[in-house]
Order: sequence, then structure tokens, then C-alpha cells
Amino acid sequence: MARTIGITTADDIATGLVEGNQLVGKLRVHAHGSSHGSDDEPLLSLPPEGIAQRFAEEIRAVAEGETVTAIGVGIPGIVNCGFIEESPNLRQLKGAHMQDLVGAALRNFGITAPVYVYNDADVLAAGLAATHGNLDRFIRVWTLGNGVGFGVYPRREGVWEGGHVVVSLDPRERYCGCGGVGHLEGIMGQRAMRLRFLDMEPDEVFENAQKRDQRCVEFVKLWHRALAAATANSIHLAGPGKFFISGFNAKHLDLNLLHQYLHEMVKMSPLQSYVFEVVPDSDVNGVIGAAVSAAQNAAQ
Ligand SMILES: [Zn+2]
Repeated sequence: MARTIGITTADDIATGLVEGNQLVGKLRVHAHGSSHGSDDEPLLSLPPEGIAQRFAEEIRAVAEGETVTAIGVGIPGIVNCGFIEESPNLRQLKGAHMQDLVGAALRNFGITAPVYVYNDADVLAAGLAATHGNLDRFIRVWTLGNGVGFGVYPRREGVWEGGHVVVSLDPRERYCGCGGVGHLEGIMGQRAMRLRFLDMEPDEVFENAQKRDQRCVEFVKLWHRALAAATANSIHLAGPGKFFISGFNAKHLDLNLLHQYLHEMVKMSPLQSYVFEVVPDSDVNGVIGAAVSAAQNAAQ
């Protein structure tokens, strides 16, 4: 069966060889620094050509000389036909044609398989659909990482920047990476939490909330209300259904609290059949989704 390679940058740079809907061998994972409190942010400091080169090196290492039929790349931001229209958390990619850059870097290594670039949350949604037997229905995924991503499968026309939906009318809510006021990511994103709590790391905020530190308790409530609000908005527009929640900050989620808030926000009975599923490991599913999406594109 044809083998493809998927690579994503959701939490780490994760790369894997995929056959069917499954990983072949081990996932190759490199932390890129920005998401786990490390000071060095290599991807953030690289120009688009440098990032493409890093991707090409990872892909070459995973291919190990094998022939692959397609390569799928997941990148945060608004991606249109391989072109990065906007990427609040990897700002230097704005305006870069990553599909061409990664393809060119790979050709230097003798790899000529077609490259397809997607939004990283969309490939995660595709991967979750593939690995959870949900390829026949509409699913959505929130990724709670450095930024907040929103992915849908199957892909639909539109922009789908769900991480930037407005969940607060408070003009002081201006911590979003894109600069917009009142955004979901401005409350839930790792970078936004660091800006809000200059004196503690996000993990400490959640720990201190457990210890009844009032400022942290209030914030953790806001954090859950924000996700409930964004989910309620999506339900009121596209209907109920399955919502996966992934990313390294999914570990802080209190599903009971989230359900309680969402129940307060969604009152029309036909809309109440929603389900949450937390899938902490976004890397494997993202890589599978990128590879499966590339295989589908290459077969068209
Ligand atoms: Zn925003």
C-alpha cells in the first residue's frame, strides 16, 4: 500500500510515516521550544525558508530513502492552496508560499513527492476522524496550545478561525496573538496566559487555583466559560455533534465545569446533543491527518 508522510507543528515538530490510517514505526518528535516554557524558540526565529528546510530535514529522516507518494504539512494559520495568508503564532510565515518552499527544500534531498500544506487544526480533525472511525460525520476539534486552533472535518468552505471568535465584550481582553479584542485565544492561549499572569506560568495558575488563590480561581472559571462560549457559538451556527479537545493545555480541562457552562448557554433542545472527547496527544493524530489528507489530494 502507498506510504505518505505527515508533519505538523501543533505542539512540537512531529513527523511520521503513514500507511492506511496508521503510523508505521515511531513518531519523530522535536520540541520547538515555544510551547513548553523553554526560552529558545527556534521555529519562531527562523525565516520561512529556514522553517521549510527544518521540515525537509525531518521528512528526509522519516522517509529513510523509501519512496513516498505524498507529503502533508500542518501549519497554524489561514492556509490557502499552500500559501500562508496569516499565521498569528508564526508571524513570519504570513505571505510565504510554504508548499513551494518545502517542495524546493525536499528536491535538494532528492524527494519529489507532491507536498500539500494545511491548517494544523484541520489536519488534526482529519486524523481524529480517521483514527476514531468518524470519517462519515462532521467533527470539530479545539487545540489548546500556544495559540488556540479550531479544526473541522470534512473540510468546509470558509475560514474557520474558531480560535479567534469573540467570547468577551470586555475591551480589556486584548491578549490574543492576532491583536483582536475579546478573542478565545486571548483567554485560553498559552502566550495570552503568560501575558495576563506575568508573575506565574500557566501551569502554576491552574495549580494555584486548586489551592484556592482567588485570582487564579476566577481565571480558571473564565478559561472554561470562554471555551463553553466558543463551543456554544459553533453549535448555534453549525449544529451539535462531536467536539474533540486536544493540545498540551487540554490537561487543565474540567469537563464537568465545561458541561455546566455550556448547558447554561445552549438551551434549544435540538442543539443539546453535543459530546466532548479529550485527546491529549495531538501529535500522532495530527501527523496521521496530514498524511491522510495528502494521500487524498494526491489521488484526485
Ligand atoms: Zn485573535
